[in-house]
Amino acid sequence: MKSLNLTSCLLLLLLSLLAAPLAADEGETERPDEETSAVIEEDTADDETPATEAQVESPTETGAKTASASDDDAAQTFTLLNNDVAPGSMRRLSWYASENSAGLSEATPVLVAHGVNAGPTLCVTAAVHGDELNGVEIVRNLLYDVDPERLNGTIIGVPIVNLYGFRLGSRYLSDRRDLNRYFPGNPDGSSASRIAYSLFESVIKHCDYLVDLHTGSFQRVNMPQLRADLNNDDVLRMTKGFGATVILHGEGPDGSLRGAATRAGIPAVTVEAGEPMRVQSEQVEHGLKALRSLLNYLDMVPRFSLWGEPQPIYYKSEWVRAEDNGILTSSVNLGDTVDEGELLGTIVDPITNSRNAIHSPVAGRVIGMALNQSMRPGYAAYHIGIRKTEEQIVEEADLAIDDTDKTRDRDNESESDESDEQDTAAVDVPPDTEATE
Ligand SMILES: [Zn+2]
Repeated sequence: MKSLNLTSCLLLLLLSLLAAPLAADEGETERPDEETSAVIEEDTADDETPATEAQVESPTETGAKTASASDDDAAQTFTLLNNDVAPGSMRRLSWYASENSAGLSEATPVLVAHGVNAGPTLCVTAAVHGDELNGVEIVRNLLYDVDPERLNGTIIGVPIVNLYGFRLGSRYLSDRRDLNRYFPGNPDGSSASRIAYSLFESVIKHCDYLVDLHTGSFQRVNMPQLRADLNNDDVLRMTKGFGATVILHGEGPDGSLRGAATRAGIPAVTVEAGEPMRVQSEQVEHGLKALRSLLNYLDMVPRFSLWGEPQPIYYKSEWVRAEDNGILTSSVNLGDTVDEGELLGTIVDPITNSRNAIHSPVAGRVIGMALNQSMRPGYAAYHIGIRKTEEQIVEEADLAIDDTDKTRDRDNESESDESDEQDTAAVDVPPDTEATE
């Protein structure tokens, strides 16, 4: 910046004046903002707004904004959780899982970055499973790094949906239920159902797009990957915004947040990155890059280059299971490309010293795998992705719809999760052998 002289500064300012309305126009075409009925007022809430770096920006920026913001593309006040967020500001709001007993339940922070210009509302949720930490870091970095003065639309970030589980390092809620099986919830149902309902009604319904962040579960690690219902055109379009990221088709288990959101007309995907109980900087980095690409794709932030190969990579996938009891030692690493028949790992019985090799049944890429640990027969050890074109994967997804619906519920109940969402191999495995993914 130091090298810029006054002339180039003015030139940049002029360019941004020209570019801003264009970007906002494109971004706004998807669906009208539900909040447009909200009061149009000057920032009366400014005093309560926690100071962010964005607000302390130079006065010239603000001048540019006012000058360029016509009535059409200037954002209006955004209202969420009974709070107003002024255009060009960021606020930290509170969501109470049980509306009736706000005094008893703890406030769950909801971060809102509301741009100066109109645009879509992107929601990013993390730690629906309380032990999945990478997403928590992704949301924090994304929200505190965004500049509302340069944002078209709104980002809502819920860094820790399951605060209870987060504190205890547990996937579950206090009643041992998995929150990601209860959406969109029920105000008269179980505790999990009520929490799901409250989040869905008070936050999720305000989103135009949703990204729910997860990791692998139970001692398994995932390459950063998207789970998305590619039969839904809006979701398919959304997957193209994530840059060079692995994308798997699946509708998600019953009661998942993304499934419920998609059914409610909000295109939603799950991002899985890394393993639970840890913060992994590489995975966080990838997730952030993917989300920033999405912001750019949705015309919410200016164009910039993040990826060498900006295309999404579509895979169908297959789990390879252990057939023996013993200790697993892997011969491959996450992300490795493997041939058909290649050695993936070995299970050694610690008592008899017998060894059993696990070979890959297909050529592909290791997109998820169990960490070295004690295994039992049937335990999902390696998740192998087989690269497909977008057309192939959509076609196969289409064909698989009828078969998978019938088997998924039963199988999901029967065993703990291999994949976090258990929805991946549905495309290519015959229904009777399809297990829990
Ligand atoms: Zn999860």
